[in-house]
Amino acid sequence: MTEPSSSFKLILVGDGGSGKTTFVKRHFSGEFEKMYITTMGVEVHSLKFATNFGEITFETWHTAGQGKFGGFRDGYYIEGKCGIIMFDLISRITYKNVPNWHRDLTRVCGNIPIVLCGNKVDIKDCKVKPKAIDFHHKKSIQYYDISAKSNYNYEKPFLWLSRKLAGQQNLEFVASPALVPAEVEINAALMQQYTEELNQATAMPLPDEDDDLQRTPIKN
Ligand code: GDP
Ligand code: MG
Repeated sequence: MTEPSSSFKLILVGDGGSGKTTFVKRHFSGEFEKMYITTMGVEVHSLKFATNFGEITFETWHTAGQGKFGGFRDGYYIEGKCGIIMFDLISRITYKNVPNWHRDLTRVCGNIPIVLCGNKVDIKDCKVKPKAIDFHHKKSIQYYDISAKSNYNYEKPFLWLSRKLAGQQNLEFVASPALVPAEVEINAALMQQYTEELNQATAMPLPDEDDDLQRTPIKN
């Protein structure tokens, strides 16, 4: 860490099994620079990215255990400067819990930049269809399909967060981070199709009814 101001606490949340641990462990610098806060059951991985504005480090907090929803103390979220909410594209319930994670995160951290990530897009039988993914649209947060196991879109959430945190839309990564080699293949044509469906869904007006999401107003 050269400048303290280029290091940010990133809160990574989402239901157990959605792939958070797999995701943070893809990045080599995170594997070498990690620490445990045993009293909270938390692992902190330092994920570093080289940008045209200097190095940026995400001190990525995530729970070492299964991490069922709820029960995190405020200490986990406190001073969080940005967030990633992860769900599993093959498990609808993990998507249904996204509003709960979002509410907890924003209750403590306020209006920080947040990326929603639908993980395991490498699996053909996605249960959460692109047009059903609209939570980010309602909340003005960013969404990416990712596949931790294939490294697909791995850098996207970090790039988006870096631009927001630096306040520089022209920030770019100048080197690819060292990642663990892909464990699964990704079907490029299928990814293209999902991206198009997602773009179409984003361009559509939002429906009034909201019954597939249990939404609770955010308390402030
Ligand atoms: P966590 O509970 O959120 O930390 O989830 P884990 O990282 O432990 O992952 C849960 C399971 O999903 C493990 O069996 C992983 O191997 C698997 N998994 C994680 N990411 C991916 C992915 O991108 N694609 C596939 N096919 N499986 C994944
Ligand atoms: Mg885990």
